[in-house]
Amino acid sequence: MPVQDSKIGTARRDVIALGIAISAVILFVGTGGSVMPQVIRAWMGWGSPPDVLLANALLLNIALLIFGWRRYNDLHREVAERRIAEERARELAERDALTGCLNRRSGPPAIEALRQSLLGTRREIAVLMIDLDNFKQINDLNGHQMGDTVLVSLAHRLREGLPEGSVVARIGGDEFACAMAFDRDDRADVEARVDQLIRSVSEPVECNQMRVDATVSIGLAQSGADYLQSSDPDGEVLIHRADIAMYHAKKRGRNRFFWFEPQMEDELRFRSELENGIRQGIAADEFVPYYEQQIDLESGKLSGFEMLARWHSPRFGLVSPEVFIPIAEEIDVIGQLSEGLIRRALQDAKEWDPSLSLSVNISPVQLRDPWFAQKLMQLLVESGFPPARLEIEITESCLHENIGAVRSIVTSLKNQGIQISLDDFGTGYSSLAQLRSLPFDRLKIDRSFIAELASETNCRDLVEAIVSLGKGLRLPVTAEGVESSEVLQQLQAMGQLKGQGYLYGRPEDAEATRNRLAAQNLLATAAAPGKARPPVAEPHRKAG
Ligand code: C2E
Ligand code: CA
Ligand code: CA
Repeated sequence: MPVQDSKIGTARRDVIALGIAISAVILFVGTGGSVMPQVIRAWMGWGSPPDVLLANALLLNIALLIFGWRRYNDLHREVAERRIAEERARELAERDALTGCLNRRSGPPAIEALRQSLLGTRREIAVLMIDLDNFKQINDLNGHQMGDTVLVSLAHRLREGLPEGSVVARIGGDEFACAMAFDRDDRADVEARVDQLIRSVSEPVECNQMRVDATVSIGLAQSGADYLQSSDPDGEVLIHRADIAMYHAKKRGRNRFFWFEPQMEDELRFRSELENGIRQGIAADEFVPYYEQQIDLESGKLSGFEMLARWHSPRFGLVSPEVFIPIAEEIDVIGQLSEGLIRRALQDAKEWDPSLSLSVNISPVQLRDPWFAQKLMQLLVESGFPPARLEIEITESCLHENIGAVRSIVTSLKNQGIQISLDDFGTGYSSLAQLRSLPFDRLKIDRSFIAELASETNCRDLVEAIVSLGKGLRLPVTAEGVESSEVLQQLQAMGQLKGQGYLYGRPEDAEATRNRLAAQNLLATAAAPGKARPPVAEPHRKAG
C-alpha cells in the first residue's frame, strides 16, 4: 500500500476506535449513574439489588471500556512504530550509510530545490564537485578501513566548511556534490570558502595509528541566467558543469579549484576522443617502438638503443608519448600498451648485434602491478632475448610511491639479470638514502640540465656534481639530450659517460634502425665470429 493510503487508513481506524471508546464512556455514565448507587446501597444492606439486566449491561460496558482503551493504545503504538519505520526507510533511501550525507539519488534534487528557493532573490547557488585526488592509492596502500575514515572525515570537513543550509551529497565512491548559496556579485565569498576547504582537507587523517594525507580537486559552477548568456541552468546542468571544471582542476595538477568555462567542454570532448583512440589503437596495433641511439661518449661507439613509443593514429597523425602515456596511465591501459611495445621491441632487438642493449621506459603505474616482474620475464622467455641485454628505466617519481613494493620488483628483476637505470635524474628529489637503498645500475641525468650546458656556465657545475655523485655511488652515468658537439666536448671532459640525443639523430622506427645497423655491419645475422669491431658512430645534427 502506498504510504499516503496507509496513513489515511490508520487515521480512519483511529477515529473509529476513539468513537467506540467515547460511546462506551457515555453509556457507562448513563447506566453507571443509575445502577452504581443501587449496587452500593444493596451491598450496604440498605435496599434491593439492581435489575439483573441493567447490572449485566453495566458489566458489559466496563468490559467494553477496558477493551476499547487497550485497542486504542495498541493502535497508537502501532502507528508510532510505523512512523519510525517509515522515517528510517526514508533515511536509508536518501542518506549515504557511511558518511550520513545525502546520496546519489537525493543529492541532485536537493541542489535543485536550493536553487529554486533562491529564484527571484539576489542570491545564486554555487555547485561544488569535489573529488579526492589519491583515493585509490589510499585504499590500495592503507586498506579500506583507512579509505572509509578518509571519506567520513572529508564529509565532516565539508559540512563544517560550508555555510548553514548548504547541500552536501556523496554521489560516487570518492565524489561529493555540494551546493551553497551566495550573493550573486560575491564570487570571492565562494572562493574564500573553497580555499579554506582545500586547506582543511589537506590536514592529515589518522586511523589505527596511521596518518594519510588526502587532497581534493574542486570544480565550481554558478547558477543564474546572465553569467554565461545561456538560459538559467538547472541543478543537473550545474552538476555537469562543476564536474567538467573539477576534471579541469585535476588536469591542472590537482589540489585546486576552477570555475566552469565553456571551452572546458571542448577540451573534455577532445580528451575523450583521445581516450577512445588509445583504446582502439592498442587493439589495432597502432603503437610502435622507435629507437634512440645510446653512445659511449669516450669511444663514440654505439652501445644500444632506448625504445620510445610513438602512436600512428589515423585520426591525429604521429602522436608523442608525452601526450598519450599520461592518458594511458590514467585510464589504466598503460600495462597493456607497454607490454605490446616491449614484445615488438624484443623481436626487433633480436636482429641487432649481441653487443647492443635495449632500454625500455617503465611507468610508475606498471610498478604498482605485483605481477609486473613475472610479466616482463614472460616476455623475455617468449622472445628468447637475453635478460642481461635488457635495461629498464624508471623515474624518480616511482620511488616516492611505495618504495617497498618497488624494491621487491626491482630486486627480482635484477636477480634475473635485467639492468635498472634511474631516469630523468635530478628532477624528482630522490634522497641519497633512496638512491643507495635500491640496486640501480645507472643514473640518467635529465636532459633539462644537459640542455643548459650550452647556455649557462654555472649549470656545468651542477652536471659535474651529478657526475661525481654517480662516481661516489659507483653508478655509471648517461647524459640525455646531447644536442651539439660543444655540449659533447664538455661532457667528454667530465669522465666516462654514455650519452644520447639529437646530435646522433632523432629516434627512428624499426626499419630505419635496422638499415642503420646493417650499414654499420651491426646486425645479428652478420655477427659472425671474427667480425670487425663495431664502427664509431658518426655524430650528425639532423635525422628522420
Ligand atoms: P625520456 O625517457 O626522457 O626520453 C627521452 C626523450 O627525449 C624522448 O622524447 C626523446 O625523443 C627526447 N630527446 C632525445 N634526444 C633529445 C635532444 O637532444 N633534445 C631534446 N630536446 N629531446 C631529446 P619522446 O620520445 O617524446 O619521449 C618522451 C617521454 O615519454 C620519454 O622521456 C619517456 O618518459 C616517455 N616514454 C616514451 N616511451 C615510453 C614508453 O614506452 N613507456 C613509458 N612509460 N614512457 C615512455
Ligand atoms: Ca627514458
Ligand atoms: Ca629521460
